[in-house]
Amino acid sequence: MTTTTAPHHSERIDVPGFRGELIEPGDAGYDDARAVYNGSIDRHPRLIARAMDVADVIAAVQTARDRGLPVAVRGGGHNAGGLGVGDDALVVDLSRMRAVHVDPAERVVRVEGGATWGDVDHATHPFGLAVPSGIISTTGVGGLTLGGGLGYLARQFGLTIDSLLSADVVLADGTLVTADTDRHPDLFWALRGGGGNFGAVTSFTFRAHPVGDIVGGPMFFSLDRTAEVMRAWDDYLEEAPDDVTCWFGFVTVPAVAPFPAALQGQVVAALVWCINASVDRAEEALAPFREKGPVMDGVGPMPYPALQSAFDALYPSGDQWYWRADFVDDLSDDAIAVHVAQGPTLPTPQSSMHLYPINGAAGRVGRHDTAFSHRQARYAQVIVGVDPSPEGFDDVRAWTRTYHDALHPHSAGGAYVNMLQDDEGLDRVRESYRDNFDRLTAVKDRYDPGNVFCLNNNVPPSTGSSV
Ligand SMILES: Cc1cc2nc3c(=O)[nH]c(=O)nc-3n(C[C@H](O)[C@H](O)[C@H](O)COP(=O)(O)OP(=O)(O)OC[C@H]3O[C@@H](n4cnc5c(N)ncnc54)[C@H](O)[C@@H]3O)c2cc1C
Repeated sequence: MTTTTAPHHSERIDVPGFRGELIEPGDAGYDDARAVYNGSIDRHPRLIARAMDVADVIAAVQTARDRGLPVAVRGGGHNAGGLGVGDDALVVDLSRMRAVHVDPAERVVRVEGGATWGDVDHATHPFGLAVPSGIISTTGVGGLTLGGGLGYLARQFGLTIDSLLSADVVLADGTLVTADTDRHPDLFWALRGGGGNFGAVTSFTFRAHPVGDIVGGPMFFSLDRTAEVMRAWDDYLEEAPDDVTCWFGFVTVPAVAPFPAALQGQVVAALVWCINASVDRAEEALAPFREKGPVMDGVGPMPYPALQSAFDALYPSGDQWYWRADFVDDLSDDAIAVHVAQGPTLPTPQSSMHLYPINGAAGRVGRHDTAFSHRQARYAQVIVGVDPSPEGFDDVRAWTRTYHDALHPHSAGGAYVNMLQDDEGLDRVRESYRDNFDRLTAVKDRYDPGNVFCLNNNVPPSTGSSV
């Protein structure tokens, strides 16, 4: 991201009653405050309102509405499309609202809207509990949850939204409501997969699950074994017990200890395991894959937060990101042939391809029970182009599109909304929600008819109006 060239505004925006920090173009800290995780995003908001509490969020949303400014809600700032920040927008920045309260007896966790998953894991692990999340601990709870939430516990406990009990939401009219199965049930349905379309969520209340130490980590195979390993992994997951989750990826072995020197810098086919069971049971699950002779086996017992944060250092904030995703119902031999051809061509050490399983508990929830529609999919697939430097980034983007174009004909249509890029358009959002899209539109009409919350994978109101 470059230094700002945004104009100073002669009039500062007053946000009555706001106690947090208000940052405008020209203020010290403006460039830091508008930067998001994806370093290729370079947007210039009109005002960044760093809220301290719910009252601040209400004040900021009311001000945006009164002035006709679009609202961007910033949770963890991780979205690859940079949806937590917008040109000329009022950014409701929740990064100071990160408290986590755990009730171990009831196994209930209340999380403020700007927390990261690392904040949640830190708070829950001492009680032997966890909330299903993703695979990187620096990702925000807000965006990940509202889009669905796919991670290491998905086959056992479902998507993150399947553990959501309620949400406190500041609506476009500045009121605060609690949505759950009894109160505002239509809003609660839409929040579970429908993204940031309906309001600013100031806190999420989750069911936590018994997860302490797990057996997890990566197993690497040489590329000539790719087809065999992918097929065996796909067959295994069809019948695997729910407490085993394992994603497949092409990755470059990091050039650091403890990775073996002979492998460092090589592209490999990886299976990354999370088994929430006894070591003996885990050994049974792993045995057939160990027999295939991985070139590195890093799977072992560890605290769940150690697995959740294992890849954090490889993915620091500020790299350039571009990705393309799809849902996959069946991993056909033709699709595997595309992976065999394309996977080894990762253009940078940070680039990768991942296939995350959605079957097991996540797949047993009905396609209309929450806004997340593609419950039948076996996998969420994402091709990830990452470049620490902006110079070669066009090539990385082109690589991502080439790989995706080759695979897309083998996909189910639609993609996990949290892995849509910001240049994909409304049709891709529709394909991702399928027949849930009309119901989302109805909820949008009711809760945000003026599309104040438009900086997201937008479900426009039926009037098509926007601020
Ligand atoms: C390195 C990396 C790893 C990832 N791994 C996973 C993974 O394992 N599993 C997975 O499911 N996803 C994963 N993702 C995708 C991730 O879920 C999305 O990028 C998500 O949007 C990030 O949420 P955030 O709060 O950090 O983002 P932000 O950029 O802050 O926000 C993203 C969107 O969510 C909205 N939003 C955020 N918080 C709130 C809130 N409190 N109220 C209302 N709207 C809100 C924003 O308005 C915006 O539209 C990963 C992303 C990255 C970059």
